[in-house]
Amino acid sequence: MNELNGIPASPGVAVARAFLFATEDGSSVPVRAILPSEAAYEWARFLTAVGKARVDVTALRDKARIEAGEDQAAIFESHLLMLDDPDLHERIEASLGKTLVNVERIVVDIEREFADKLGQAEDPSLRERVADIQDVSRRILGHLLERERPSLASLAEDVVLVARDLMPSDMISMNRARVKGIVTESGGRTSHVAILARAFEIPAVLGVVGALSKLRQASVIAVDGDLGLVICDPDEAAIERSNAARSAAALRQHDLDSLRDLPACTTDGLRVLVKANIEVPEEAEAVLAHGADGIGLFRSEFLFLGGHVPDEEEQFVAYKRVIESMKGRPVTIRTLDIGGDKVLPELGAQDEKNPLLGWRAIRFCLSREDIFKIQLRAILRAAVFGETRIMFPMIATADELERALAVVDAARAECLERGQKAALDLPIGIMIEIPSAAMASDILARRADFFSIGTNDLIQYTMAVDRGNEKVSYLHEPYHPAVLRLVQKTIDNGKAAGIPVGMCGEMAADPASAIVLLGLGLDEFSMSSAAVPAVKRAIRSTTLSEAKAVAGAVMALSSSAEVAAYLSSRLT
Ligand code: PEP
Ligand code: MG
Repeated sequence: MNELNGIPASPGVAVARAFLFATEDGSSVPVRAILPSEAAYEWARFLTAVGKARVDVTALRDKARIEAGEDQAAIFESHLLMLDDPDLHERIEASLGKTLVNVERIVVDIEREFADKLGQAEDPSLRERVADIQDVSRRILGHLLERERPSLASLAEDVVLVARDLMPSDMISMNRARVKGIVTESGGRTSHVAILARAFEIPAVLGVVGALSKLRQASVIAVDGDLGLVICDPDEAAIERSNAARSAAALRQHDLDSLRDLPACTTDGLRVLVKANIEVPEEAEAVLAHGADGIGLFRSEFLFLGGHVPDEEEQFVAYKRVIESMKGRPVTIRTLDIGGDKVLPELGAQDEKNPLLGWRAIRFCLSREDIFKIQLRAILRAAVFGETRIMFPMIATADELERALAVVDAARAECLERGQKAALDLPIGIMIEIPSAAMASDILARRADFFSIGTNDLIQYTMAVDRGNEKVSYLHEPYHPAVLRLVQKTIDNGKAAGIPVGMCGEMAADPASAIVLLGLGLDEFSMSSAAVPAVKRAIRSTTLSEAKAVAGAVMALSSSAEVAAYLSSRLT
């Protein structure tokens, strides 16, 4: 029995066999010995992967030529030359015969050797070639591993998925009924893998150093998503403890769900809304089962991440289905928030040096109005079937909001011209998740119908901390005074302008934070469905004046640690 620790990212306990999921990153490519007679087969695999990579790169080159000009196209031209470099091919073929290991491993080793050599070159233009070499080699690896790795969609047995990292698209395409637990080496509590694991109610422990090398394929492992614990080959007693924890959690949830039909109302009569965040339409059922007041955030980009880009009709059907399933409760649909860690090459979003600071969300949509308008038309048409709000992600300036509103008008006009029914008047709000937006929220409030604070990104950008990087996760701190002040400012500015202010970042899901936020004047809370009852209970057990006193005390403290200590002494 061997225990590993990580970040408790999604509650619950699971015991199942480990499924080690290797991605195209070199660090998780397994070494596999081959027989001399298999070398020719490995060589053929390499040539096939190069052929597929050539098709990708040629398409990228042609696209770059049209959209970005000859200079950008030249980069891909050089990648094509690398793919077909006779010296490279010769080395790979020779290494296969000599080292007798799988071709992926040889590709990784050669990439590292080149990267090390060029990385030390005096000439900066040579050093810059490292990224190109990595790009080409990862592309080849992607194709090599794709053929080999079993698809997560076809998992046929219950497993605990173990990976270095998972992409949001992996989470969407996997067979969720079979994934009982998740363990990754990277990631933080507000990374999208964590958010999706909570949404799908799959226990998860992230940031487990060396998980892929320490856990063995098909060995039994126990995952405790409350404690952040992974037990390898658990003995009888450990399995019993896991089972007992699972039963206790089920009882607690059952108890909490008895609040389902009760309103989120303080004991002195202030009614607020506790809504749910969803990623895929199938979650709508859980929203109702946990008693949420509607959907405060539909992360619509997840419709696009399952390996297929939906057209207007498909989007319309999906939005309509969610809106109708809410039986009159309101639904806030956030427009596409791709980019960052939600990469979607099918829509032309490409790898960037700083994806989190790059071409994502509303920035992407405003420069791809064609894609944006398709989505807006689908939402406006679906909004006829129930109370709907539109929300734009990652707004940094008032100008972006103005431009996005104009695209909504244009999309509506197109629907009407086509003779289709479209919502003529629906609330359009924005996420406040960039410090510039929080600081200038008084200006943004003039044109937004509501605010929803996205603390996952707001903290990321305020603290300069990648929310998915386990090494710096200690800085992703909702109680840091800088974050709390931005939240307070946003609420105050929203109130002054008479618009509702909500929060759909993970901070809203914490019952202790909910009291602080209530005291600061937040009107709406939105979170993964399973967290709704506990937040409702917290709100139902306080008065507004108590919450205001707690918030006042918290705002006077000087560090996250002080706030956490104060809240745990005051509220437990
Ligand atoms: C946020 O940033 O807090 C948010 C709710 O959006 P997402 O987690 O999808 O980036
Ligand atoms: Mg966000």
